[in-house]
Amino acid sequence: MADVIFKNVYKRYNCGVTAVKDFNLDIKDKEFIVLVGPSGCGKSTILRMIAGLEEITSGELYIDGRLVNNIPPKDRDIAMVFQNYALYPHMTVYDNLAFSLKLRRIPKAEIDIKVKEAVKILGIEEYLNKKPKVLSGGQQQRVALGRAIVRNPKVFLMDEPLSNLDAKLRVQMRTEISKIYDRFKTTFIYVTHDQTEAMTMGSRIVVMNKGVIQQVDKPQFIYEN
Ligand code: ADP
Ligand code: ADP
Repeated sequence: MADVIFKNVYKRYNCGVTAVKDFNLDIKDKEFIVLVGPSGCGKSTILRMIAGLEEITSGELYIDGRLVNNIPPKDRDIAMVFQNYALYPHMTVYDNLAFSLKLRRIPKAEIDIKVKEAVKILGIEEYLNKKPKVLSGGQQQRVALGRAIVRNPKVFLMDEPLSNLDAKLRVQMRTEISKIYDRFKTTFIYVTHDQTEAMTMGSRIVVMNKGVIQQVDKPQFIYEN
């Protein structure tokens, strides 16, 4: 169970910008929901509030039935994948995947099993001892996905994960992410600018504009011609 519920949520940054206004959304357990909308409409802010990286100004956010307004990121059981990969540059692929598990004091043998399982799913076994900088963009993004997978999170957050990749790789990685979704069957919240990604991956699409929701519906009703 990992539904995510926003009730009258506002986010105002210290500079005075109100990024999200009276936001109400009920994301169902195991749903693949896609957020779209112009740059600056508040998509990343929504993800960062779910992750606990950004404080909520007012309103309520529930994850898995629990009010999380004051719950720190490490206690939320959420993984986030970023557009720029955000890998630890000085660590090997293995250590990038193992790091968050080490912080949680999971035994080494168990970490080893989880890391090796994740790299197998993603087809990056041969890069375990390499540093991120020698990998291609697609390989780095696989490492970023692996770092999310090893934690077996309740909610996967993805912020334009494929927008730095070329068209061909984007198609490949789209399939990869759908595979991960099928395998882990948990809640996915995915931000993109790409209409094809939204249509092919999303079970529902949320269209945002200037911090509010304009429309929420199944892809065929959002992009009908
Ligand atoms: P995108 O449209 O791809 O989300 P942005 O250029 O809006 O990219 O934002 C990139 C990053 O910069 C975001 O993570 C956001 O938090 C940060 N950012 C955006 N606007 C501001 C701002 N006015 N002040 C500080 N940080 C900002
Ligand atoms: P999107 O992801 O849709 O591009 P963001 O959530 O990044 O939108 O930004 C929403 C609004 O909040 C924008 O006006 C942006 O400039 C502003 N913003 C984002 N992050 C910050 C920040 N850290 N500090 C101040 N303003 C920010």
